[in-house]
Amino acid sequence: MSLWELVLIFVFCICVAVTIWLYARVRSMVRVGKALDELSRGIRHKKYFFGNSKASRRWAGFIEGLAARLEQLEDQVQKEAYDLKALLENMAEGVAIVDENHVIQEANLAVGRLFGIKEVLIGRSVLEVFRNADLEIILRKAIDSGKRQQCEISVTTDQSQERVVEASVTPIIHPSTREAHARRGAILLFHDITEFKRVENVRREFVTNVSHELRTPLSVFRGYLEILLAQRRVDISELHRILSIMNKHVSRLTSLVDELVDLARLETGRVGLEPLVIKVPELLERIVNDWRLILKESQQEIELICPRELPLLEADPARMEQVMHNLLENASKYSEPHTRITVRAEHRDHVIRITVSDQGMGIPAQDLPYIFDRFYRVDKSRSRDRGGMGLGLSIVKQIIELHGGRIWAESQLEVGTTIYLELPLMPE
Ligand code: ATP
Ligand code: MG
Repeated sequence: MSLWELVLIFVFCICVAVTIWLYARVRSMVRVGKALDELSRGIRHKKYFFGNSKASRRWAGFIEGLAARLEQLEDQVQKEAYDLKALLENMAEGVAIVDENHVIQEANLAVGRLFGIKEVLIGRSVLEVFRNADLEIILRKAIDSGKRQQCEISVTTDQSQERVVEASVTPIIHPSTREAHARRGAILLFHDITEFKRVENVRREFVTNVSHELRTPLSVFRGYLEILLAQRRVDISELHRILSIMNKHVSRLTSLVDELVDLARLETGRVGLEPLVIKVPELLERIVNDWRLILKESQQEIELICPRELPLLEADPARMEQVMHNLLENASKYSEPHTRITVRAEHRDHVIRITVSDQGMGIPAQDLPYIFDRFYRVDKSRSRDRGGMGLGLSIVKQIIELHGGRIWAESQLEVGTTIYLELPLMPE
């Protein structure tokens, strides 16, 4: 073989080797490209192999690292989205996100619950879903001005319940360009303030009622004091008359304060019951006997209808006496002489039912649902004439509810009234 032939063979071999090397490089680069393309589409593998060369192994390591990091980031995003969803779904407040056209993009379950809406909310406009002009106005105002807005909405749900919802609308604003992104939409937050409103009303009514109750005796005092101060000599019998009127008003004031303090303590749960095991027939017999004497003065009769044996009851005896005292006082106060009051007790399923019936003037049907409210009097003048302040039954109701029982009334005008109490029996 000549030298030229040898050189040619050598060159040929070198060319083949370079081609093979180049082919291997290109093939591994094609694989790398495919792997990156897959990664961009979210397809990941645990291990990558592009060839045995050092460079291919480095590429494989690099892409494996990239895939692992991507997986980590995806997990993190998913977890954050999940946490956010869980947070939104478990919130008592309703949250909705709307776009610049007021179309709902996202809403949690509380929105439907608060407004009693069962249909799908996403994709519908705020006006269509909530049918509230005020909300629509503040939404537009918030998006246009870039400032948070608030309003109150009253809602009537399916069960005809009145609810007051406070709506606040916060525009979604991009941190860099406030104006441009103010038009991206808004977040709506709905907060149920029904209970808050009710308490506010109760407080307002309470202040009005108490000041009204205080005004009468105070003006009586002032009137008589002025008379006494103006006269140099007062006839002793006249003085006695004035002082006895003032004394009557002082007693009324004292019992008002006592009842208010008692009611406040019962309502805030600050007064603890002191329950004992009591025999209902014995307790009622004692109370009815005491009242038989009291009622002699008003010429009324009282009878007790109660079996000798009744299951034992766990209750606070002093509070139960207070309940019976209030009910019997009403039965007597709102009935004429020569009428009869009947106290009954019976065992029913898991309760003991006690009723107090009278043959008095009765309560009009429209007033019946309110007689257990504080300061509620059917006929203010008739009740005040008889010394009533409208607190007795609300105290009774609080006591019965603290015992886990319930109370209601039935009445017929000019026929009589029956108050029902049911107290749960001790578990066996
Ligand atoms: P207080 O008990 O605080 O001295 P009150 O008797 O007016 O005052 P409640 O006992 O709470 O107040 O009763 C509320 C109202 O319900 C009364 O004012 C009265 O109009 C009506 N009422 C209660 N019991 C009877 C009854 N047995 N018959 C007729 N009306 C009743
Ligand atoms: Mg009363």
